[in-house]
Amino acid sequence: MEKPRLFTPGPTPVPPEVLAKQAEPIVHHRSPDFAPVYERTLARLKAVCRTETDVLLFASSGTGAFESAVANLVTPGEPHLVISAGSFGERWVAMTAAYGAEVDQLRYAWGETPDPADVRARLREREAKAVWMVQSETSTGVVADVQALAAAAKESGALVVVDAVSSLGAVPCETDAWSLDVVVSGSQKALMAPPGLGLAAVSEAAFAARGSSPRFYFDWERTRKAQRALDAPFTPPVSLVAGLDVALGLLLDEGLEAVFERHVRLGRACRAGAKALGLELFSPDEDRSAVVTAIKAPDGISSDTIVKSLRERFAITIANGQGDFKGKLFRIGHIGWFDVFDISTVLAALEMVLVDLGADVERGVAVSAALDAFEAQPVT
Ligand code: PLP
Repeated sequence: MEKPRLFTPGPTPVPPEVLAKQAEPIVHHRSPDFAPVYERTLARLKAVCRTETDVLLFASSGTGAFESAVANLVTPGEPHLVISAGSFGERWVAMTAAYGAEVDQLRYAWGETPDPADVRARLREREAKAVWMVQSETSTGVVADVQALAAAAKESGALVVVDAVSSLGAVPCETDAWSLDVVVSGSQKALMAPPGLGLAAVSEAAFAARGSSPRFYFDWERTRKAQRALDAPFTPPVSLVAGLDVALGLLLDEGLEAVFERHVRLGRACRAGAKALGLELFSPDEDRSAVVTAIKAPDGISSDTIVKSLRERFAITIANGQGDFKGKLFRIGHIGWFDVFDISTVLAALEMVLVDLGADVERGVAVSAALDAFEAQPVT
């Protein structure tokens, strides 16, 4: 018997209630069957983004929602600052440049944590219309202090655009309280729904600062106007929206603070288990690292082999390192529909696979270390 288990930082496992909702018959998107679902989903998205502003919903992955920000905000030749410390930061450098922005890149080595003082210093040297940042750099496991980075950017008057694709619904992202102008995310990560929906919370300031790049499907004005009338501009993936509605309801019923605390505990458990095995962490050993745990492969063993062995032996899917780190580190995602027993399962399987591969790991301690860390002192 094979029981597939998904431990990637997106897509993530989807709760059965969400899957069941999506299996219901298709309704028409301009009928009274869909309007309440659409209205509730948009309202729930605002609650999860902690904003009073419009959250625009697109039939796209997270990258599509991000492209909506680039297409609406960038006018060719304008100065923009992109903070990059991994794969996704580099994607936003490439995308803003593709739209003709004069891109200044505040570049860190993969695995480093961006520093607000660097943002402040860079903006004193060269102004920017917007500062683009990644909250959870999924390629490295680093969760940046977006509140502090945004505050530094705001001192110069720049707009702040945040990639919260893997972090929204896992760690705090206070759109209004932290004055974030645009927050972008996707359905398939901590929001516990399948891939296919991208979202962008867009402040009035960002909306007013729209530029002249060509756009149509991702035009904010078209989508905002239509959403306000509960009349989607294009055919929405009605089943995905209905599923997301249920998933957001589960998150809000648990309570966002409780959800964030659960993620802190899951991150602690995963790191404690990995360390107990004798492995070295790549992502920082701190509570903020609550999205994905990046772990270095032991000497002499490629992470390609670890990923493959977990799949072949136990039908467990984890993520390999990306870019230069492919083969060198592996990543265990713990966002969304996860509890501590998911973490103990993946650690137990990892231990068995590492023993098979001849790694020098301590046996029998990872699971109890993880459970202890999960139960440890209250999260403040
Ligand atoms: N940004 C981050 C931080 C991500 O983790 C991802 C996906 O892994 C993306 C952007 C891209 O999202 P998508 O694959 O949904 O386009």
